[in-house]
Amino acid sequence: MSAKLLEGKPIAERIKEEIKKEIEALGRRPVLASVLVGDNAGAEAYVKSQKKTAEALGIEYQYHKLGGDASEESLGRFIDKLNNDNGVGGIIIQMPLPAQIDYKKISRLISPVKDIEGMHPANIGKIIFGNAKILPPTAASVMELLAASGIDLYGKEVVVVGHSEIVGKPLALLLLEKFATVTVCHIGTSKAQKLEEHVKSAEILIVAVGRAALIKKDWVKPGAVVIDVGINRVDGKIVGDVEPEAAERASIITPVPGGVGPLTVTLLMRNLVEAVKLQR
Ligand code: NAP
Repeated sequence: MSAKLLEGKPIAERIKEEIKKEIEALGRRPVLASVLVGDNAGAEAYVKSQKKTAEALGIEYQYHKLGGDASEESLGRFIDKLNNDNGVGGIIIQMPLPAQIDYKKISRLISPVKDIEGMHPANIGKIIFGNAKILPPTAASVMELLAASGIDLYGKEVVVVGHSEIVGKPLALLLLEKFATVTVCHIGTSKAQKLEEHVKSAEILIVAVGRAALIKKDWVKPGAVVIDVGINRVDGKIVGDVEPEAAERASIITPVPGGVGPLTVTLLMRNLVEAVKLQR
């Protein structure tokens, strides 16, 4: 058996059309303020791709670059300025931040109604109550892929590998909201030699770790749905966290690249539109 590929691009294209309509209804061009602190080639490349997606949707992409020696206080003051600027609809702080800046502190300084990465505690908290309007884009991308796969999550055994704040943790809550039975695995699971056992029980497997081939083909339950969030560079190629041969056992699998990746920037833009609506 060879799994059906679940690609992110067609879903992203559909959502982009919805975003364009929403922007038309807003009656003005929303502005996304993007802040990079210091020099980082990876972050600059990500900024370029965000800018391209934003502009194609009719969003103004305002790019701000602060020196690598900026303090937490000066970044905080800059964020405050953006919070108070009525022209700015959403704010994104590019990663990585220099060592002197604590992202957790900074994410609390962005106004919750401009927090398009969905990382302010108020927005994360709303996920628990099932009424969040702004979701962390990567977690939301996984939910969009699952919805597009047509699978009913109700009562399904879902295993999430990775418990980061931006992916695994919010995703577990979003899956619970759909009445999935959720198991979250992490480094402790691996160290206890229990990762294989859990993965083998998954009807739906979602992996967001950042370790190439962490999940072995033979661990994947025959017929499982596999969403591979991982991005790893191996010998100049981008690969996921799941052995590609897992496609021989899964019923549906996301390609890497081409699965989750194309959706995340699009969902960041959808968050901007939601943010602008919340500010009204
Ligand atoms: P992260 O913050 O580094 O989190 C990785 C998670 O994996 C942590 O919860 C970590 O646990 C866990 N982990 C590490 N080693 C493990 C092991 N051997 N067994 C089980 N769990 C283990 O990374 P992230 O930001 O969530 O990103 C995860 C991956 O997704 C990366 O490859 C990233 O590039 C990719 N990603 C892709 C997109 C996209 O658009 N496609 C977006 C975001 C992220 P501990 O913290 O306890 O060590």
